[in-house]
Amino acid sequence: MAADGRGQGEGQEDDREALRALVGQLKTNLATRGRSGLLGVGLGAGPASRSRAAGGEPPAAERPASTERPAPAKRPTAGARPVTAETTAVVVEPPAAAPAETDAGTSLQLPGAAGLKVLRDDIGDCQRCKLAGGRTNLVFGVGNPNADLVFVGEAPGADEDARGEPFVGKAGQLLTKMIEAMGYRREDVYICNVLKCRPPGNRNPEPDEVQSCEPFLKRQLAAIRPRMIVALGKFAVQCLLRDDAPISRLRGNFRSYEGIPLMPTFHPAYLLRDPSKKKPAWEDLKSVNAALARVGVTPPNPPAT
Ligand code: URA
Repeated sequence: MAADGRGQGEGQEDDREALRALVGQLKTNLATRGRSGLLGVGLGAGPASRSRAAGGEPPAAERPASTERPAPAKRPTAGARPVTAETTAVVVEPPAAAPAETDAGTSLQLPGAAGLKVLRDDIGDCQRCKLAGGRTNLVFGVGNPNADLVFVGEAPGADEDARGEPFVGKAGQLLTKMIEAMGYRREDVYICNVLKCRPPGNRNPEPDEVQSCEPFLKRQLAAIRPRMIVALGKFAVQCLLRDDAPISRLRGNFRSYEGIPLMPTFHPAYLLRDPSKKKPAWEDLKSVNAALARVGVTPPNPPAT
């Protein structure tokens, strides 16, 4: 009997309550993962771990303790309202664990390199959509598993398919220059695509392909927990935001993806075709740096202002 008069039975009842709640959460989570085709995902390396794409291996570097951030109690709601310059400082927060009903298993996502490794193993020699047959390499993603900044493109092209690494062709070389102009090296940030396999002839991704692959992007982002996403080009932007407004209207305005601030901007391949758009794209990237600076995130080699 406890000194405060609460019987031991009450303590046991508390324990039972806590256990019941835990089991309930686990059941909900498993149901969600079952619905999303990800049952068995995230709990460890599964039988699917048969091959690993070249370049898909995330570096093992861990975020220094000084930049570790506790997850906030509440995830900001993803919504259509543009995140203005005034509100960005509030919105630039690490994503909290997502609610089990909607998260495609992300609430059980391990953070950082460990989470990315489990995810890569879960994806395995993916045959979940019709792109599997045409690929040379699955292009998982590359960069810092604890990056504050993630760039998301559309899908691998021929060069990326051949190398197993995103953004390594001509557009990729321009993206690297853009990242460096912001004051980062490629390895400081994380780079990935909505689709992990190359659509034939570089055609646009199809809805069933996005449906199969986007849960992996969600888990990738849940593992990395970036402060900011830069979505590159019409397809990635429209797909992530579920908004079919033209990229010319969407770019430059902060939005939110799964609670993470997202800046839509032009795709580097488009900038190669129309160099006059480089200036507004650079404005977008400067806004990203400014929003990150407001929460204390600065690049290792800040550009001169
Ligand atoms: N374009 C993309 O969207 N992604 C790549 O990885 C390469 C080109």
